[in-house]
Amino acid sequence: MPSGGNIEWESARLFSQLKNISLRPGAKWTLGDCRVVAPYTLEINRLKKEKDAFILAHSYTNPEIMYGVADAVGDSYGLSLAASKVKQKTIIFAGVWFMAETAKIINPSKTVLIPGGRAGCTLADSMTGEDLVNFKKKHPGAPVLCYINSSAEVKAQADICVTSANVASIAAKISGDKIIFAPDMLMAQNLIVMLRAQGVKKEIVYTGGSCCVHDKYTADEVKNMRAKYPGIKILIHPEAPPDVCALCDYVGGTEGMLKYVAASKDKTFGLLTEIGLVNRLEHDNPGKTIIWERGTCAYMKKNTLFNTLAALKEPSARQIVDVEEKTARAALKCIDKMFEMSK
Ligand code: SF4
Repeated sequence: MPSGGNIEWESARLFSQLKNISLRPGAKWTLGDCRVVAPYTLEINRLKKEKDAFILAHSYTNPEIMYGVADAVGDSYGLSLAASKVKQKTIIFAGVWFMAETAKIINPSKTVLIPGGRAGCTLADSMTGEDLVNFKKKHPGAPVLCYINSSAEVKAQADICVTSANVASIAAKISGDKIIFAPDMLMAQNLIVMLRAQGVKKEIVYTGGSCCVHDKYTADEVKNMRAKYPGIKILIHPEAPPDVCALCDYVGGTEGMLKYVAASKDKTFGLLTEIGLVNRLEHDNPGKTIIWERGTCAYMKKNTLFNTLAALKEPSARQIVDVEEKTARAALKCIDKMFEMSK
C-alpha cells in the first residue's frame, strides 16, 4: 500500500483540484477529505500504468474520479471521440452502460470495463431494438435519428446517431419531411422548437423515453430561482421539458454549458442539470457562484474509486463490456454517420 509521505503528496494534489468543489450542500472538499480518498487514487494511478489502462470519465461522475484518476473527462460525444483514439490495451469507462458499449463499438480491439457494472440509464433503457423496429413499421421510409443515450441494439436499428449538441444541425441536413427520433421524447420536443427557430419545416415523430434527472424540472423552480437570485442566468439541458427550457437563458448539453459559463461576464448561474456538471463548473470557475438545487444521476454515481480499483485488479463478469458483433457493426455505421455529419 502507498506510504504516508506519498499519501500526503497525493492529498495535496487532490486538494488543489477539489478545493472549490462542493462535497455536500454548504461544504467544500477539505484536505482531510482528500486524505481519505488519496490511498485509492494513488493505487489506481499506479495500477493504470502497470495494466496499460486509460480512464474515461463522464462529467456526471464523482469529482474524485474526474479529477483524481481520469485521463479524459467529457460528455458522451467527447468521450466517444476520445475512446476512438485510446492506444492503451484497456479502457475503463466511468459512466453508464450505453457509453461503455459505444466505446467498445468504436474501438473493438480494446478491453472495455465499466466500474459500476451494468449502470443503466432510464433513457437508454426505455426501448429495445425490437421496439424501434416496430415503431419504424408505423412510419415507413422515415430516416431514424437516435440520441447517443441509447443501447447498441437501438443504434443498430437507426440511421444516424446524434447528441444534444449536434441534433438540430444534423436534423436540418436530412432530406425528407419526416424524421423518427428515439428514444428521448423531451429532446424530440425540444428539437421541434429548435428546428422551428431555424425556419426548418419537418415532422418529428418520437418514442416515449426520458431522463429521470432532467425530466423532473418545473417552471416553478425557474421562477423561484429568479426571485431568489435577481439577475441570475439559468442553464438547462434539452432533456428537460420544453416549457421549462423556454424560461431559461441557455439550453444545451454539458460542453455547451461549460463554454457558456466560462465566456460569460455574469457572476451567478443557476444549473438545472446533474450535480457532476455543477462540480465541473465549480472547478473551472472559482470566482463565480453556481446555484444548484437538485438533480443527481444514481446510475452515474454507481462508479466509485473502490469499484474502479476492483476493475483494474480483477474485473468481474458484470464489469466487462461486450457487444454482439453484428449489432456492433450496424451500430458503428450509425455512430460514424454522426462523426461524418458533424464535420
Ligand atoms: S443523467 Fe439521465 S440520461 Fe444521463 S445517464 Fe443518468 S438517467 Fe441517463
